[in-house]
Amino acid sequence: MKNKAHKRAGGFLALSLLFLFSFAPGAAGAATPNGPMIGVKIYEYAGSFSKLFEEWHSLGVNTAFVGAALGADPEFKALAKKNGITTFLIFPVFFDDAELEKDPGLYAVKSDGERAEDDWVKFVCPTREDYRCRKIEEAKRLVREVDPDVLSLDFMRFFVFWEQVYPDRTPESLPNTCFDTSCLEAFQKEMNVHLPEDLAGAKTANKAKWVLANHAREWTEWKCRTIAGMVRLLAAAAHEVKPSIKINIHTVPWRKGDFGGGIEAVPGQDVVRLAPLVDFISPMCYHHMVRRTPAWVHSVAQDIYDRTHGRVLPSIQVDKAYIDDPYTLAQFKEAVTEALKPPSLGVVFWSWDALNKAPDRKEALKAVLGDPGSRPGR
Ligand SMILES: [Zn+2]
Repeated sequence: MKNKAHKRAGGFLALSLLFLFSFAPGAAGAATPNGPMIGVKIYEYAGSFSKLFEEWHSLGVNTAFVGAALGADPEFKALAKKNGITTFLIFPVFFDDAELEKDPGLYAVKSDGERAEDDWVKFVCPTREDYRCRKIEEAKRLVREVDPDVLSLDFMRFFVFWEQVYPDRTPESLPNTCFDTSCLEAFQKEMNVHLPEDLAGAKTANKAKWVLANHAREWTEWKCRTIAGMVRLLAAAAHEVKPSIKINIHTVPWRKGDFGGGIEAVPGQDVVRLAPLVDFISPMCYHHMVRRTPAWVHSVAQDIYDRTHGRVLPSIQVDKAYIDDPYTLAQFKEAVTEALKPPSLGVVFWSWDALNKAPDRKEALKAVLGDPGSRPGR
């Protein structure tokens, strides 16, 4: 990982060498040579860029997950490079409001035959060749325009509004997609499974019921293959434009046993299969909104690391969302500490906007980072 921060540190070279030896690839606690990655998710920004970068410097922020418009802004780009900020370009893959508005036929389809839509969460079917080609071209164009250090694949999965899935949910109650003609055909061909002839004219719901009752394992396998396949294509496209670019994937924060293997069965994210295709795995550990404890943040990162030995970079929420229970300063501080525990590479805050509005949380972040005992790999 390129990281030009910490120029202030005395004995920089000696420290770097020390860390390089301490953190050989695959070693536990594989923090970056220059310490933890401290990231913020920032989608748009209206104020002064120079002030923004000054503030990031004072907070120890060395990583920015940016939306395409901000990432392509020439002043933002120049200042990010000058300040040694590692940039992750957030690239939503199967989430695209404009495409769905133009052609509602692109919607993914749930097992009840309805559109994969829940509030603002609307998913595109993952097997439409025309859409996939447009996304691959868009990724190439944005890598060229934004020139990020990392292409960060978001919504790189099947539909689920996981932000509102709480620990008491049963696996059967979770949505399963995509059962449109395109996916059902791809599934049968790829997995050598054939729907009975008498279902040929049946409703989508009946076909889905048959698949899930008779070939649930093959269905999950096909979903995971479909997601991994698209990651491989997008990574290859990005490398074509910028050979040194790294790839990240945002993952649904479900551990191996959660919801009966739900991470594979529902979003189709098999981290073991994905790890060799990407440089980072970034679980969205927004504990408060999914009614978990701050300690759960670390357990999600640890679970991914145990299974992949990959580079895990959890993101946490700064402010409450969706549910109204209090999210105290003490809880936030604990979540930061948990996110930084080895083998995590650091912590990413969702979002900069929320952090910027909360001076007490900024101070808490400084306090945690100032405590050497809480740094990963130390
Ligand atoms: Zn589909």
